Parts: sequence; C-alpha cells; structure tokens
Amino acid sequence: MTEPGPREGVKPMKLDDLLGRNIYDVDEEPHIIVDYEKCDQCNAKPCLHLCPAGCYTLAEGRILFSYEGCLECGTCRAICPMDAVKWSYPKSGRGVFYRFT
Ligand code: SF4
Repeated sequence: MTEPGPREGVKPMKLDDLLGRNIYDVDEEPHIIVDYEKCDQCNAKPCLHLCPAGCYTLAEGRILFSYEGCLECGTCRAICPMDAVKWSYPKSGRGVFYRFT
C-alpha cells in the first residue's frame, strides 16, 4: 500500500501559514472564561496539547489562556476534565473569519 502524497498542483502549507490567513475581529469581552482555580487542580492539562490554536500555555506552572486567536472549535470545552471552561461563541459578527484561499 502506498502513502497518499500531496495532490498534484497543491502546495502543502504549514499550520502557522494557514492560521495566518484567518482574520480575527476580537471582541473586548472574552467568549471563553477559564476557571484557573480548577486548572490548578488538573494534572493532565489536555488543553495545552489539544487546542489547535495554542490558546493555552503554561506560565510558571499555571495555565494561561488567551482567547484572541481562538478558532471556535469547542475542543477545550469538550476535553477539559475539570469542567473549567465556560464556553460560548463570540458575539454575532465577531471572532474568527476563515480564509481558505
Ligand atoms: S475553542 Fe478550540 S481554538 Fe478556541 S480555545 Fe478552545 S480549543 Fe482552542
């Protein structure tokens, strides 16, 4: 069995380049609220590894979240074992605008 290769005429792009094409209209009011006290109790911290936009980072051992680059995928809400993520879509017309070309 052969590995699927890149499609002819389609140039593969790096994730950062793809994300860089998006346009963000960031609301001053966060659409995701994280309960950091619950994060402190979490050992696994899957948000650090599964957020495709890298919105969750560690700063001096504690979760640091920034919503500005959020892709609105809902992964963090689904995978948080501590139920620490209060999630909603940004206000109408705000947030990420995907660009595919
Ligand atoms: S909704 Fe998706 S992109 Fe946004 S912070 Fe959660 S995991 Fe990251």
